[in-house]
Amino acid sequence: MAIFVYAENINGIYKKAAFEAVSYAKSIAEKNGESVTAVSINPTDSSELLYKYGAEKVLNIKDEGLKNFSAKAYAQAMNEVAEGNIIVFPHTTDASSVAPMLAVMKDFSLITNALETPESLSPFQVKRRAFSGKGVMHAKADASGVIVTVSQNAFGVKENPVAGSEEVKDLAVTNEDTKVLSHEQSSGKLDLKEAEVVVSAGRGMKGPENWGMIEDLAATLGAATACSKPVSDIGWRPHSEHVGQTGKAISPNLYIAVGISGAIQHLAGVNSSKTIVVINNDAEAPFFKSADYGVVGDAFQIIPELNAKIKALKG
Ligand SMILES: Cc1cc2nc3c(=O)[nH]c(=O)nc-3n(C[C@H](O)[C@H](O)[C@H](O)COP(=O)(O)OP(=O)(O)OC[C@H]3O[C@@H](n4cnc5c(N)ncnc54)[C@H](O)[C@@H]3O)c2cc1C
Repeated sequence: MAIFVYAENINGIYKKAAFEAVSYAKSIAEKNGESVTAVSINPTDSSELLYKYGAEKVLNIKDEGLKNFSAKAYAQAMNEVAEGNIIVFPHTTDASSVAPMLAVMKDFSLITNALETPESLSPFQVKRRAFSGKGVMHAKADASGVIVTVSQNAFGVKENPVAGSEEVKDLAVTNEDTKVLSHEQSSGKLDLKEAEVVVSAGRGMKGPENWGMIEDLAATLGAATACSKPVSDIGWRPHSEHVGQTGKAISPNLYIAVGISGAIQHLAGVNSSKTIVVINNDAEAPFFKSADYGVVGDAFQIIPELNAKIKALKG
């Protein structure tokens, strides 16, 4: 049997999280000698991209009815094609609403936010992120099969090229539940949840007119921009940038927090970042306790200097 993996795409283009999920599925396949079958819904990208990370087979579902996302309809589609007893999903917003529905349909265990290759496959046991990233737990599946979602940026994208083959599946899933009212998309910008580097700023920036320096630094670093909750509540930045307990949970390799105090609700969404740099003019700001590197000083002086230094380093 194969390890099945949901390869998420946005408007047909594979997400980085899809490559990470395929890489993760491959690491399981290497343990139990099975192959990897990636399933994608209406992709336009080439399947070659998935062979590169270890998918021996790519099942492309073609279904006009699935043009608009619906967790239930996507779970039904996965239920029709995914036959294995280990099914991997990325832990993206969409996929993490499909995975539980599929688990119910198949009567499988569901383990979310896996951090590493499973410790054992029989029973399936894996380390997962718990308590908003403040802890880890060892979760064990007790059903005949398991759906596992992979915490973004935890396992990483690992090349493992194979000679793959593609099969196109025509489905006709009923998708009556979805009515698209509006579709917000940040064009040309990095997806915050996928970004390896994030430059984030808070109320310490004093006003929206000062975000130019944050955007400049982000552009130099190839980073996405984020913000604290009050900043998006006041309307200084769009809600799509709000990170934390009530915003997006992210885990980039590098999180730079500028003028953010480090309240527990903010930390809940960012403390899984691999390296945290805090820039704050108050040496007592709580964020410094969670920082790998801290700079005490005025952001208005530090950010332009930092940007200029990085630009100079990059030549
Ligand atoms: C139920 C609930 C859910 C919440 N969810 C979230 C959430 O998801 N995300 C979130 O972010 N918050 C959340 N909050 C709000 C949270 O408690 C904090 O109020 C918020 O994170 C503070 O935002 P801030 O750090 O931008 O602002 P402040 O707390 O005002 O901090 C501003 C910081 O900027 C520093 N500063 C000021 N001037 C400068 C300067 N010139 N240079 C450098 N530093 C400077 C200050 O020293 C200070 O530390 C939630 C609260 C509740 C009750």
